[in-house]
Amino acid sequence: MIVKSAEFICSNTQISKLPPPEKPEYAFIGRSNVGKSSLINMLTGKKGLAKTSQTPGKTQLINHFYINEQWYLVDLPGYGYARISKSKKEDWDKFIRTYLDKRESLQCVLVLIDSRHEPQKIDVEFCNWLGEKGLSFVLVFTKADKQSSIKTDQNIAKFRKALLATFEEVPQFFVTSSESKLGKDEVLGFIDEVNKG
Ligand code: GDP
Repeated sequence: MIVKSAEFICSNTQISKLPPPEKPEYAFIGRSNVGKSSLINMLTGKKGLAKTSQTPGKTQLINHFYINEQWYLVDLPGYGYARISKSKKEDWDKFIRTYLDKRESLQCVLVLIDSRHEPQKIDVEFCNWLGEKGLSFVLVFTKADKQSSIKTDQNIAKFRKALLATFEEVPQFFVTSSESKLGKDEVLGFIDEVNKG
């Protein structure tokens, strides 16, 4: 897929104000600082589309971007801020889980995982929750340019193994770098395929 147009539509703090669920939607989510904004900008070819390095604890927003006048790319707030209050964490949880669980136009969740790290409990638990809810998801390993491909492969293997404790089959995964554009064609190609049904 070639991204010809990518337009910011709206930021929401309320589920009731989301755009009508009339277009296929793909949600991007991950720990704060995982490289989500950079990945969205890389995929769309628009540098300032998603705001990079947002201040932790800032208002939690669901951002909708309209791609090729065909589908929505949804930027969900990051999880796992160390310095966020318990009540804010609970608000995040309720807001995002309600969105994910109830959004009828949601086709797939793209769970971003930092490829530099060994499996993190919060990421594994989030994937397990998606599985429990029967939500379709894929893994997108980020920042692959930051270490050797051997190290990346090792961390991916460990993550997949961690998921195998719960899942019979591990989901599809992509290896990406916003610096080198690695994985761009693969992720966009995947979305294209799902859109075509
Ligand atoms: P977000 O909080 O998940 O939206 O993460 P950002 O996109 O703001 O990225 C967090 C930090 O990681 C920033 O300093 C980025 O420049 C850096 N970063 C993100 N993706 C990559 C990548 O693919 N390669 C490298 N080398 N750095 C990255």
